[in-house]
Amino acid sequence: MRLNSRRALMLAAGVSLSVCVGTAVWRQVRASRDLVAWFTEPASRARLITDTGLTPCPGALFILPTTGFVGLLWDDVRPPYNRIRRHSGLDIFGNGEPGQVPVYAAYDGLLTRLPGWKSAVVIRHPHDPLSPSRQIWTYYAHMADEAGNSYIVDAFPPGVMDVPVAQGTLLGYQGLYNGGTGPIGLHLHFSIVRDDGHGRFLNETDVRNTLDPSPYLGMRLNHACADEVPACTAHASCQ
Ligand SMILES: [Zn+2]
Repeated sequence: MRLNSRRALMLAAGVSLSVCVGTAVWRQVRASRDLVAWFTEPASRARLITDTGLTPCPGALFILPTTGFVGLLWDDVRPPYNRIRRHSGLDIFGNGEPGQVPVYAAYDGLLTRLPGWKSAVVIRHPHDPLSPSRQIWTYYAHMADEAGNSYIVDAFPPGVMDVPVAQGTLLGYQGLYNGGTGPIGLHLHFSIVRDDGHGRFLNETDVRNTLDPSPYLGMRLNHACADEVPACTAHASCQ
């Protein structure tokens, strides 16, 4: 994708490095550098991309819903996040133009797009495959251009509710829409959201309402122990 230099600098400022010491912090610094490099050094992209296609990692059940650099992780505290406002999902930065990088359903479920949603859909999974007695949701955002013109496929217009979708169903394409709050860089925000116990999804912007996606995807995606470039692993959890 193209980002003009001003945008790249703004994004670089948004992931400015923390002044700390220690191995964990070094990993954080290195990962922040990678995110800056993604937007400023096109040659860096090939080594940063995670691409598992439409196949779950061995032993996992969800597919990574899009291809790109998993630049911000679950429970991430790097800017623009912090220890109070932690990141609730994954930001996967695609290598393409807005409206080109496909986004797929991570797992079988029932899709809803609320009437006012320009860039997002949510899929209900009545039985969490890792805890079948509970319902969970997967949430996909930023699938529109900066002006809010949607990149979600026509099969899922605003207002649809509980439409059955299979794992791997095309939902739309990565975009830039963030409600007009400033440049965000082309990416998909993906999160696994808890149910309120009454059939509704909780507010996914609060990390406490979301689940660590690592065991669902078979990759280390928790900021506390993530790999530099996430890949399939038999030991996805931090423990
Ligand atoms: Zn995000």
